[in-house]
Amino acid sequence: MLPDIDKLLELQVADKEIRKLQEEIAALPKRVAGIEQKLAGTKAHLEKARNAAKSDEANRKKFEANIKDLQGKISKYRDQSLDVKTNEQYKAIMNEIQYAEQEVRLNEDRILEVMVNVDAREKEVKAAEAELKAETAEIEKEKEEARKIAAEDQKKLAEWNAKRDVLRHGISEDILRQYERVAKFRGTGLVEVRDQKCMGCQVMLRPQTYNEVRNGQKVMVCESCSRIYYFDPAHEVKPEQEVVTVTGRKRARPKADAPQAWFYRPDYGEEGEVLLVFTNNGGNSSRRIYEMHTGRQFGDVLLREGNYRQAFPEDLTDAALRLNGHWDEKEMDEWGTEIPSNALDLLHKDLLAIRREHKAGHKHSTPPAEQPATR
Ligand SMILES: [Zn+2]
Repeated sequence: MLPDIDKLLELQVADKEIRKLQEEIAALPKRVAGIEQKLAGTKAHLEKARNAAKSDEANRKKFEANIKDLQGKISKYRDQSLDVKTNEQYKAIMNEIQYAEQEVRLNEDRILEVMVNVDAREKEVKAAEAELKAETAEIEKEKEEARKIAAEDQKKLAEWNAKRDVLRHGISEDILRQYERVAKFRGTGLVEVRDQKCMGCQVMLRPQTYNEVRNGQKVMVCESCSRIYYFDPAHEVKPEQEVVTVTGRKRARPKADAPQAWFYRPDYGEEGEVLLVFTNNGGNSSRRIYEMHTGRQFGDVLLREGNYRQAFPEDLTDAALRLNGHWDEKEMDEWGTEIPSNALDLLHKDLLAIRREHKAGHKHSTPPAEQPATR
């Protein structure tokens, strides 16, 4: 292997580690913020319970003051009643007294109502206080944990960055520039050539290019995805091995009645090679289309009535190859506008397996690409 390629392989490992660490570090403040938000909720709950207890206390005082006022009035009326001259006046004062006594009873009832509440309020405040205490302790622990992880990550990041710098200095400038430019857009800048294919974009290499990469005399770049090629003899598939692989370890067959189906189409109008995924959901089905090599999504998710075989017959041509793969719709929504590389790799590998089977199929009989639905 060329020394530059050897170093690039190491550099690619370092870059991957660095990216992983950076993502982890970036996610930590979010985790802490989430924890603190929860704490704020508990604090607000405690505040509310305390305020309710306070307003009960204020109400009780108000009712007690009312009673005192009314009792003052009543005794004043009683004094007045001693000096009245007519029956009419006496009756009027007695009415006032009766009314004031009624008001006293009303205020007493209200005080009772408040007192009944006091127990429940106290319990609520105590529970909220206990919850806050437990949560605060838990949060301190989690924050400490997050701080520790961040510190460890920073340390590892510094180590990987130092390693990366050393590696970069040992690689020819042109090759390094190519690697970093492609890595920026595709996530990886270096790609293995295996079984005469670019493992990044699955394009077939011309025999001459393949031989040049195998011989490792010069640095070669994929014409389709621009990644720099490397060849690992340990992974070389020899013809006799291939047959063993095909017959020994069969590709899993997608079920025809599965709620989700992935297809590869080499000829999807202007888009060319695409991956299609159909998902049945209730009485409806959805369709998503992605560019085959980059995994970038074309257009929006399309929803139609009926299961996908009824809803999207025009997409299911003879050229469509059924692939293995299943992801929840929620997860696919989270992908955004691109299939993540690990999922894309799985789909590419499955397609590769189909093609291998087809090739082997000239020598051995192969079952159809899809099992009939079991009834
Ligand atoms: Zn490629």
